[in-house]
Amino acid sequence: MRYTKTKSLFAGAALVMSLAACGGDGGGEVDVEVKEDYNPPAGSTMERIVDEGKIKIGVKTDQPGIGFQEAGSDTPEGFDIEMGKVIAAGMGLEPDQIEWVPTISDNREPFLQNGTVDIVAASYSITDERREIVGQAGPYYVTGQQLLVAADDDSISGPEDLDGKKVCSVTGSTSIETVEKEYGADPAGFDTYSECVTQLQNGNVDAVTTDGAILLGYAAQDPDNLKVVGEAFSEERYGIGYQKPDDTEFCQFITDTIQASMDDDTWKEAFDATLGESGVEAPEPPEMDPCE
Ligand code: GLU
Repeated sequence: MRYTKTKSLFAGAALVMSLAACGGDGGGEVDVEVKEDYNPPAGSTMERIVDEGKIKIGVKTDQPGIGFQEAGSDTPEGFDIEMGKVIAAGMGLEPDQIEWVPTISDNREPFLQNGTVDIVAASYSITDERREIVGQAGPYYVTGQQLLVAADDDSISGPEDLDGKKVCSVTGSTSIETVEKEYGADPAGFDTYSECVTQLQNGNVDAVTTDGAILLGYAAQDPDNLKVVGEAFSEERYGIGYQKPDDTEFCQFITDTIQASMDDDTWKEAFDATLGESGVEAPEPPEMDPCE
């Protein structure tokens, strides 16, 4: 990925980002215009981050279109990555002031709680349980759980076919809980979805389950052998994680910054340049939750 750094020319200019569509890797190529005149409220989380001169963002690195890092590349790509850049730019931080921290589903809350990251942008569904222990602003995207199976397998076409089947998903995800509790699957839990995809390709499991947005990226990488089947059977509302559930000021900043990107179409351009590369049309941006 190429970063082009440009600065706002106008004092008081709102956050503006422009994204140049890129060719085919589901990663996007982004020009960020940073909100250089951003003045954080005294004592706020934004002030702490601005004073540190960098933001640590927890992201996935093995989910094509969402958060993916090519071997040998030093920056990840994907829709979550673009949302991370939008938030950083809103605080006046350049892309090279972002530290991308690889996360897996299971360490998102601990990484927020122990300060390993400032925010999480990692296919992170908003749930009541998670909102008890960390903050989640959003949703900035809504998807739903689906199934990935071998292209020549006609025995599974929806979650009702999973009873007794070996289904791979990721520890600490909403996905593994749903298939185990609601559909009687025999769950195989791994750290990452890419490990699950390997299990499926090797014939060790019958299906992989997680959000459709994630599965489409894997199917697109190996269309001769993999297919996504059935309708979505859950609602996954992606949010930006932050440390303290009661940090309303930070929640409001994140929400307003993402909302601005939705209003000026940056959000849609980011979608088209990342997840949209697999042929999915950009949906209408979702309505975001109030912060209090
Ligand atoms: N969105 C779901 C979750 O947050 C599944 C994807 C993931 O594990 O990142 O648990």
